[in-house]
Amino acid sequence: VRVLLLGSGGREHALAWKLSKSPLLNHIYVCPGNAGTSQEAKTSNIEDISPSDFPKLVEFAVKHEVTLVVPGPEQPLVDGVGSFFRKVGIPVFGPSALAARMEGSKAFAKDFMHRHNIPTAKYKTFHSSEVNSAIEYVKTCGHQVVLKASGLAGGKGVLIPQSTEEAIEGLKEIMVANVFGSAGSEVVIEELLIGPEISVLAISDGYSIVTLPAAQDHKRIGEGDTGPNTGGMGAYAPAPIATPEIMKRIEKEVLRPTIDGMRKEGFPFVGTLFTGFMLTSSGPKTLEYNVRFGDPETEALMVLLDHSVDLVALFLACAEHRLDSVPIKFQDGFAVTVILASKGYPGSYPKGQRITFGDIPSNVVIFHAGTRQNGDDIVTAGGRVLAVTSCAPTLEAALESAYKAVDAVDFEGKIFRRDIAHRALSAHLP
Ligand code: ATP
Repeated sequence: VRVLLLGSGGREHALAWKLSKSPLLNHIYVCPGNAGTSQEAKTSNIEDISPSDFPKLVEFAVKHEVTLVVPGPEQPLVDGVGSFFRKVGIPVFGPSALAARMEGSKAFAKDFMHRHNIPTAKYKTFHSSEVNSAIEYVKTCGHQVVLKASGLAGGKGVLIPQSTEEAIEGLKEIMVANVFGSAGSEVVIEELLIGPEISVLAISDGYSIVTLPAAQDHKRIGEGDTGPNTGGMGAYAPAPIATPEIMKRIEKEVLRPTIDGMRKEGFPFVGTLFTGFMLTSSGPKTLEYNVRFGDPETEALMVLLDHSVDLVALFLACAEHRLDSVPIKFQDGFAVTVILASKGYPGSYPKGQRITFGDIPSNVVIFHAGTRQNGDDIVTAGGRVLAVTSCAPTLEAALESAYKAVDAVDFEGKIFRRDIAHRALSAHLP
């Protein structure tokens, strides 16, 4: 099997790392990739094609006899990359543009949840021309609200105002000042939910579903969940708060009706469905759907997959609607990912700092995110630079080796959070 993997983050390096272990694999082409992906066995980066130039990518795939395409990020999926390859007979592990609307439009996703009785926050949607009606709504709805730009806004399109006045200001920013651009041409106004959050990733071929262990990520830049939001500063799995009972409810009340509903409505889901949940006092409520692997959850989940799992076979089976034919198993124990970022992130930061790697414990894998090869050196090339990932029988042991590796790696301006998995540590571990 020859794989074309699209993307350049820690998620894509983790996928390449696991895919490259498959006996079925001939080669992985990563477009554009990073300094880490090109170091994996049977893997090379494609640097002379833009990852958004789908016709060029198809030309490349045909010429190099690619037999499986794996898009990492959401943008190409929402832009319909899948159909370009399916048209020339190359299977894709990822949803169609129609199915990707579940991430690309929060208004669409909320209406879908409503149609299928999937537990979620109360909501109402307004077009940006309806700012006065939206303001009337927040004045009268009687609960604290969350404002969401409906389109893709790189994880930044959600406002949580503290008062009705702030909510009105927020609406004007999204609907009149267009701070989120066209992502804000529709706005979802939602009821504020309270509770701990978890991420549940599930793989589906449109019919069957395999649920992966629940993960928790750490969105804020600062320890104790302070400061601005980021793409994610760390993750761990499984999250003990997601008990077997909660996971059962999530599968029955959300994942099964979602996958069945999508198929019945004519846009079956193939790929990884990432659902965000708030565990409220009245049960798990769906916050959002993403139609691809999460970053950094994927880094933790890839090391947690059992050594026997053949990811190439699994993705191919999914793309061919026969997921049941491939076994999937997870190791007992815990995986932890700590992100090393560039000082200044999520604002502006310098690039080109040389990275040194010291003694790394044997149960740690360092996935690259924003890195680049510069002669013999590996240098920083992004906000999130490395995803230091470990797996061990206990969460404490996984954290200990991850932080040993964090201390062994160095570059000018290295920042990270020391408190990854603090929520699990402060809860009573089973
Ligand atoms: P992501 O970066 O995860 O893709 P996003 O911009 O797609 O985020 P959501 O996941 O819907 O948007 O919301 C982002 C965050 O806002 C959530 O992780 C959650 O912390 C908070 N949030 C969203 N909806 C609600 C809600 N109804 N009540 C409370 N908090 C919420």
